[in-house]
Amino acid sequence: MADTSGVKIHPAVDNGIAAGQSGFAGGTLHCLCSSNPVRVTLKGQTAHNHVCGCTKCWKPAGAVFSQVAVISRDAVEVTQGAEKLEVVNRDAPIQRHRCRDCGTHMYGRIENKDHPFYGLDFVHTELSDDTGWSAPEFAAFVSSVIESGVDPSRMDGIRARLRQLGLEPYDALSPPLMDAIATHIAKRTGALPA
Ligand SMILES: [Zn+2]
Ligand SMILES: [Zn+2]
Repeated sequence: MADTSGVKIHPAVDNGIAAGQSGFAGGTLHCLCSSNPVRVTLKGQTAHNHVCGCTKCWKPAGAVFSQVAVISRDAVEVTQGAEKLEVVNRDAPIQRHRCRDCGTHMYGRIENKDHPFYGLDFVHTELSDDTGWSAPEFAAFVSSVIESGVDPSRMDGIRARLRQLGLEPYDALSPPLMDAIATHIAKRTGALPA
């Protein structure tokens, strides 16, 4: 068993994971600006919450992973500070809308209707003061933290800590989400009936 002492993943999981509340009806995200923060209202519970090691998701200062969940785009509404939002990269499959003042990503949106996850926005529920959001369930793109500068020798400890937290580490998405992507592609190519 690898040594997990001192291994930090993300502030939302490092001290134990808060369970989601059934019947939770949503809440408000805010950016990290001390005045006139961007506010985004989510009208519902999130799904598929996870920690992500990719280099594209927004992470709080010092965190090795991000924490990111999805919600129907119809349930996402910018309620304050919309003029401060800018898209990080218009060419990326997920258009991440960030506050231009503090850099916080408020939501990521897919505009390509052929994308397997079209219709879902990506959000960071740690930006909410409301409690009851769906809990992280797994760890995605774990090997990618090396691309952010994590020494490969630390990976055994990081994977062991994720398992200790009940966040099974995957180097892509979780098997159900990878299966959903492959099914979408197979239906488009005709390999499976649409
Ligand atoms: Zn801000
Ligand atoms: Zn990511």
